[in-house]
Amino acid sequence: MPVSAPPGPRSRATRALYSASLVVLFAAGCSSAPGAAPGADPTAALPLPAPEDGSSDGGPTGTDAPDGSGGDSPMGDGPLHDRIVVIDPGHNGGNASAATEINRLVPAGPREKACDTVGAETDSGYAEHLFNWELSLLVKERLEADGATVVLTREDDEGVGPCIDERAEIGNEVRADAALSIHADGGPASGRGFHVIVPGEVEGFTEDIVAPSLLLAEDLRREYREGSDVPYADYLAEDGLDERTDLGGLNMSTVPKVFLEAGNMRNAEDAALLEDPEWRERAASAIARGLAMYLMRD
Ligand SMILES: [Zn+2]
Repeated sequence: MPVSAPPGPRSRATRALYSASLVVLFAAGCSSAPGAAPGADPTAALPLPAPEDGSSDGGPTGTDAPDGSGGDSPMGDGPLHDRIVVIDPGHNGGNASAATEINRLVPAGPREKACDTVGAETDSGYAEHLFNWELSLLVKERLEADGATVVLTREDDEGVGPCIDERAEIGNEVRADAALSIHADGGPASGRGFHVIVPGEVEGFTEDIVAPSLLLAEDLRREYREGSDVPYADYLAEDGLDERTDLGGLNMSTVPKVFLEAGNMRNAEDAALLEDPEWRERAASAIARGLAMYLMRD
């Protein structure tokens, strides 16, 4: 769907739905900075054109006035103003001390799988759940600066879960235009690099999302490789792409979705980058660019 397409009934409905969930998810604090106006925010790194045509816009405060949700909504101008993105920061800070809860089996496609796992960590103890959380917030900030509506699958880094099927369901419920699960791998210390995981065909589950998810993966892979200085993984995947049919987070998704394994936490070279806050800013910009490229395809 082109960016300039007028909002249809679907997007209106999902905006209204999202407005409600936004309040719940972010009541504790909004990451929007005072300088978040498009063009003025140094984190708004996406080289995207302005909306081509304002004819369907009601005014400078946004296009959502008719449904009454436009008042304090974060949605407004920007090339991604009618796009909904779900960012899923993998794992959670409380998982390690909630074995029973995260080991229970949940729907994951043809077979059930554990609700969630603890995740990896670097040799110095930087936990993957925290990395995922910190990077996700930076990506969210950038996409919002370009007008996108961004939904996170968890509201902090201290809870347990949600389970993998619930993470997928969040994207399904808001009918996300794209969903991205952010992770870092715990591979062999000798291997480094990133990879993007795409859904393979699973009968009865993923048929509709395989093709668009691959496009999403290709845009993300290209921008991330260019912007992050992390090479394609040299210990698995092929040219940075890995097709999987065993991940509940993909099998249960009805919207285009991929996982990013941003680097290998057990590799010293990758870990040095993942632990560097300045690198995370650059990586987030690259990820946001990749998502935006996909979202602006027609
Ligand atoms: Zn992970």
